[in-house]
Amino acid sequence: MRVLITGAAGFLGSHLCERFLSEGHSVVGMDNFITGNPENIAHLVGREGFQFIRHDVTNYIFLPGPLDAVLHFASPASPIDYLELPIQTLKVGALGTHNALGLAKAKGARFLIASTSEVYGDPQVHPQPETYWGHVNPIGPRGVYDEAKRFAEAMTMAYHTYHGVQTRIVRIFNTYGPRMRLADGRVVPNFIQQALRGEALTLYGDGLQTRSFQFVGDLVEGVYRLLLSDEVEPVNIGNPHEFTMREFAEIVNAMTGNPAGTVIKPELRIKDDPQNRQPDISKAKRVLNWEPQVTLQAGLEQTIPWFAEQLRQRGEIK
Ligand code: NAD
Ligand code: UDP
Repeated sequence: MRVLITGAAGFLGSHLCERFLSEGHSVVGMDNFITGNPENIAHLVGREGFQFIRHDVTNYIFLPGPLDAVLHFASPASPIDYLELPIQTLKVGALGTHNALGLAKAKGARFLIASTSEVYGDPQVHPQPETYWGHVNPIGPRGVYDEAKRFAEAMTMAYHTYHGVQTRIVRIFNTYGPRMRLADGRVVPNFIQQALRGEALTLYGDGLQTRSFQFVGDLVEGVYRLLLSDEVEPVNIGNPHEFTMREFAEIVNAMTGNPAGTVIKPELRIKDDPQNRQPDISKAKRVLNWEPQVTLQAGLEQTIPWFAEQLRQRGEIK
């Protein structure tokens, strides 16, 4: 296959590029670096089968030659990013998705959209199955991301229904691993770097809110299987093992030997921050024969050294 991956220089996009290349496909990576980093794909540039195009996908996408699949992953993804980039977030979810779908239609390519557990908002059903319609505040601070993704799903289904495009929708739950940006503000990079610096870990609110963290390798496997499957309706891909942020902080402090503990920062909690989140992955098990393989402990053992190396390169730790 020849595959276009938008958001290729981001955290998930760069891992996907690697996976498709390693399966023998050729990959066109596209990114405008708004939240991504050229370093994430520097090792792929010049490799056979890889091509990179710097482009903002909210503008018309011109790509010569045949194409078998489009994976649309371009979008600011961390709450800090989409709060700083609200209009760009709405545009890449709406106009970017439209352009990427238009390209897929013109080329007769399969299309896969990176949606999110945020389409469920602050959920009133727990855990969240794909049949749950969600609880989203459209005009709250997170609405720019949540509604962009909900619109992107609607647009994707419309291209399937009205234009016959082969579409796939993955609803990704919190994913972590090497190549997350140190400053992206998400809890995993925050806690790990605070712990490595010997600082107290910042709990936003009371720290009793929960998340379920999936290692990036599991996500990539789920996305790969979904693209090759026949499933048109959304599929949750996430790790159902749920932790409070307090529990998560204790795990990170224990694994890094950080004695500084935690500090409560109620004022830093973003309005409408979901209280609980856990994927119901029965559908992914049934239709993709997929379930996560990497425990939190094992995933952190691969992620902490990566952050440590980043901090060492910046001279922030020894
Ligand atoms: P990321 O910020 O690391 O990567 C996003 C990439 O998209 C960046 O390289 C950025 O420069 C690029 N981009 C943004 N707008 C663009 C535009 N207009 N044109 C071209 N490129 C553009 O984030 P990530 O964590 O890798 O997330 C990737 C995708 O997965 C996003 O769509 C996100 O919504 C989705 N997702 C991620 C998670 C997660 O836990 N990481 C969870 C749910 C959904
Ligand atoms: N959080 C925290 N301390 C931090 C960063 C985040 O307690 O330093 C909390 C945040 O309020 C949220 C959870 O951790 O409840 C996950 O936040 P993240 O930004 O990683 O992603 P989200 O799941 O909210 O999109």
